[in-house]
Amino acid sequence: MKAVDIHQDLIMTYGNEPVLFFDSEKWKEISPDYNVGTYDDYKDDYALVVNAIRPYVCEWDMKDVHGRKISFDENLIEKGIDGALSWWSKLSVVKSSDDLTKEWLKVLIHIEWHDNIDSVDIVKNWYEKGVRSFGRTWNNDTTLSWAHGSAEKGLTPLGFELMEAMNSWWMIIDTAHMSRQGMKELLQSSTKPILNSHSNIHAIHAHSRNIPDEIIDLFPKNGGVIGLSLYKPFISTDPIVTIDQYVEQVGYIVNRIGDDYVALGSDWHGIPKEKTVAGMESVKGIHLLYERMNAKLGSITTEKFFHENAMRVIKANLG
Ligand SMILES: [Zn+2]
Repeated sequence: MKAVDIHQDLIMTYGNEPVLFFDSEKWKEISPDYNVGTYDDYKDDYALVVNAIRPYVCEWDMKDVHGRKISFDENLIEKGIDGALSWWSKLSVVKSSDDLTKEWLKVLIHIEWHDNIDSVDIVKNWYEKGVRSFGRTWNNDTTLSWAHGSAEKGLTPLGFELMEAMNSWWMIIDTAHMSRQGMKELLQSSTKPILNSHSNIHAIHAHSRNIPDEIIDLFPKNGGVIGLSLYKPFISTDPIVTIDQYVEQVGYIVNRIGDDYVALGSDWHGIPKEKTVAGMESVKGIHLLYERMNAKLGSITTEKFFHENAMRVIKANLG
């Protein structure tokens, strides 16, 4: 199996320094309760990971990781990009469709959000450094869009301007974390297919981060893909959420709009072990998911989910 995962936090910032999750000893020391994977865990089973840089400072209490405070710091974006490009001599950073043919583990650099963009030039600068995907919001509204929970409000004028600019540069638009209206506007207006990298299904579990049916129904026309996360609180309030419950989420989308618009968007590393689908606390758990999905949904849908759909969207965006 060679999986494509359209959302993982492969860089976290600790204090002012970026920490790469492949540096697993360091990560275990900082955050023992979170999922972790070494480079070796990835290299056999993954073709490509869309890696998120999250521009916030964590002020961790080393005795209690859940007591952390966070604050936005745009300098961490530059540090994250530089850290990724310098450490990852073992990886192929994907900047064009030609890079997708490389055999070794590929990483596409994504920036999850920015609080205070005042010009499209800021994003253009990241693009020139090698970033190929960008979101609009995190859990807060920004200068580009309203965030999830703000159902009636969508993109700002600058948000629309940036959409047109990213379409023309061949840069991927990610709608995860956005308001419904913002998602709707991008799905209806973007000339390139969208990634909604890590959300789940509102009709199954009514969390504000999840996608309602009216938005799911816009994906076939746009041609984009919905990445389903392994974050338990987005899937159910059950104390234990099983792999079969995750596969049911995939089945829901397949039954509604067909099997071309759903993919893996795990958010591994952004999730504490206790809040992950049972059995998926390690990246090696992907074998269990692959087996269950094959048994329940068949091999054609499973292959589309694990790589074909996401690769189609990434290729269409990178030119
Ligand atoms: Zn996120």
